[in-house]
Amino acid sequence: MSVIERLDELYAIGGGRGANRLGGSREEDEAHELVAGWMREAGLEVSVDSTRNLFGRLPGRRPELEEVWTGSHLDSVPEGGRFDGALGVVGGLEAVARAGRRERTLAVVAFRDEEGCSGPGCAGSRGFCESGAPRPGSFLELHVEQGPRLERLGAPLAVVTGIVATARGEVVFEGEPGHAGTTPMAARRDALVEAAEFVLGLPAAAAAVEDSVATVGRLSVEPGASNVIPGRVVLSVDVRAPDDAGLEQILADVPGVLRRSAAVAMAEEPTAALRQEVERLALPVVELASGAGHDAGVLASAGVPTAMLFVRSLNGGISHSPEELSDEADVELGIQVLTGALARLGAVD
Ligand SMILES: [Zn+2]
Repeated sequence: MSVIERLDELYAIGGGRGANRLGGSREEDEAHELVAGWMREAGLEVSVDSTRNLFGRLPGRRPELEEVWTGSHLDSVPEGGRFDGALGVVGGLEAVARAGRRERTLAVVAFRDEEGCSGPGCAGSRGFCESGAPRPGSFLELHVEQGPRLERLGAPLAVVTGIVATARGEVVFEGEPGHAGTTPMAARRDALVEAAEFVLGLPAAAAAVEDSVATVGRLSVEPGASNVIPGRVVLSVDVRAPDDAGLEQILADVPGVLRRSAAVAMAEEPTAALRQEVERLALPVVELASGAGHDAGVLASAGVPTAMLFVRSLNGGISHSPEELSDEADVELGIQVLTGALARLGAVD
């Protein structure tokens, strides 16, 4: 069964439009059962940990050595895409099978509830890292880019340099509610006008820091009547920058306190293994920072030497949507690079 056929089978779970395998749902369980069956067919040793993450192990000739893991997640957002998460598990399974028995044990893992539709996200990988269970010597995550950069560059793959620094939270603008007909313009304190100036200024602040983005995605106006001057506006702010200093530069003029998470760098050795395999296939070596959080970021933050490989997203990079698309040939290249990197890291150096 090909990787694409397996992605199709996972995509069909639960029916409806797009992928619907929310973290904690019956559909996520069904996906884990399906993949566990494929792991057994591939001759892997299947196990489930205390956070219900799924593992398929190919024992090494020297199982006492630190293991080499690859994987991602099987849950999706509502009406999600075919590749997000699932590619890293199904492609990882294929790569472990192709790499074959090595000195070190190779494993493919499916982490639970990465998307966090009803929680903070990356529940499975966080649970694993907090459980005190033995950690792998390295972790490689294959994932779709979920953005347009590789499509624009005309390159099939990217080696990820790190996960961006993020800041998220709400900003509140207080004004003075009043009668829209009788309050003169000069006497107004309109919270929405102030908020609008902030929203219009944010793109320029982000543009001043290379590869950064800033978004206001939600805005509530109180009291919210057409004939009352807005007295209070609450809006969401989401800022991402390649490093912590860039993030702070953008946040300098943002009022209020946002929740920050620091940038996470990928580790040198597993990243070099991916890069060498990209070069071996005579493909352009593109390096990108990931604008989205991933299980790889959680493992890297916990001290596991981690690397990530992006596969080009098509359709302008759309993701978290049934329109999410990657080319079968690009997927195959990603699996080839992952297979080679697993083989390298699985050898005793
Ligand atoms: Zn994902």
